[in-house]
Amino acid sequence: MSSIFDTIHHRLSQAIQCTDIPEDVFNGLRYPEKTLAVNLVIRRDDRSFVNFKAWRCQYDSSRGPTKGGIRFHPSVCMDEVMHLAFLMTIKCAIAGLPFGGAKGGVCVDVKKLSEHELERLARAYIKAFASMVGPDKDIPAPDMYTGGAVLAWMADEFDRIQGKKYRAALTGKPVAMNGSQGRIEATGLGGYYVLNTMIESGLCSGESLKIGFQGFGNVASFCARYLAEDGHRIVAVSDSSACLFCAEGLDVEALIRYKDEQRRFSDYEQEKVEVLEPAEVLTIDCDILAPAALADQIHKDNAGQIKASVILELANAPVTEEADSILQDNNVVVIPDVLANSGGVIVSYFEWVQNRTGDYWQKEYVFERLRKQIEKAAADVVCCKEEYQVESLRTAAYILALKEIAEVIMAKNVK
Ligand code: NAD
Repeated sequence: MSSIFDTIHHRLSQAIQCTDIPEDVFNGLRYPEKTLAVNLVIRRDDRSFVNFKAWRCQYDSSRGPTKGGIRFHPSVCMDEVMHLAFLMTIKCAIAGLPFGGAKGGVCVDVKKLSEHELERLARAYIKAFASMVGPDKDIPAPDMYTGGAVLAWMADEFDRIQGKKYRAALTGKPVAMNGSQGRIEATGLGGYYVLNTMIESGLCSGESLKIGFQGFGNVASFCARYLAEDGHRIVAVSDSSACLFCAEGLDVEALIRYKDEQRRFSDYEQEKVEVLEPAEVLTIDCDILAPAALADQIHKDNAGQIKASVILELANAPVTEEADSILQDNNVVVIPDVLANSGGVIVSYFEWVQNRTGDYWQKEYVFERLRKQIEKAAADVVCCKEEYQVESLRTAAYILALKEIAEVIMAKNVK
């Protein structure tokens, strides 16, 4: 049996045992509804053929059509895709979106493809999974290494296959192709709103906080920008080459410009900025640590060394199950991924609504609606924690999601 299902079943049981809902109601959530694996073959620019393993998993559709990104990364495997699809199911329920959860992935190193090869791969992917996709079936979106350009090729190919313009079949499209304003900022901004709600609720404290980010891509850079504008100090950021540290606070705008030039932090030179090993970001002296890169970064061997009092999980699954209990014992508050990074899927939902109504919104309106929706989700998680007297925000978030999902399952079935 795959270990991801051990994790999934553990997370489910921890939450179910706190509720009075019979455990068998959730039997449908123990395994995915559908997972399709394919072998994609494309031609390279030199006319040779190359193949890639690819997957799409629709985990649970109780609450509506399934929704989830497509990841292109060399570490992608079927287990990871299924795990991420499960997290999407929980995330959509917490955010109150009318969606189930899905995920897709291709095991590929995009840095080794030309732009034309990437386009062929994007088109091949959507062709292989076209029968599963649609505005009322399953709505893919971007994830790591699949930005607006990849989604634009996929949306175009999907329309060609169907012989019809399906605006709402994929989200995260460029604005010129009926994408939503504000999608680029959405996940980082959502994380910022969630953190503020937690601070206001008294679960974590502070003015002029010291914050560290692991990773400095799309999500971390926007979140850091909004927090710095509020007067908090971004004391550390990292990429795969190095961690930059400055106790007085780094210049976030300068770092964003530096990264836009595709440069590595290991080459960064600035007075008062120390260049450390990438992993040191996790154990630096700070109040809030925001992992915003890869999964399983905080594990049993480093969880005990974390000095932050709060972890804001901007990445998906950055804290392992074993690390979770060590952090709990050390009174470190973990703001879980299924809440902290839900800003992206919320604005993807706004894109789906705009595509279906033909009414397109200004960026300020998108941000305002995002703020209201994600603040409500964060407040609901805090209420659940109090009502069910559970210690962790993760368990509270899962209880909230499972109650939403159970309500639909019960409504659809004879008592
Ligand atoms: P991105 O590709 O823009 O940025 C990832 C960053 O991680 C880069 O700065 C990269 O250098 C860094 N990185 C890679 N390996 C690292 C390592 N070993 N140590 C330190 N840094 C490392 O990706 P993103 O869109 O910012 O996504 C980041 C995380 O957030 C991912 O886990 C993703 O699944 C999650 N997420 C993203 C969104 C979204 O809308 N983009 C939504 C939900 C969740």
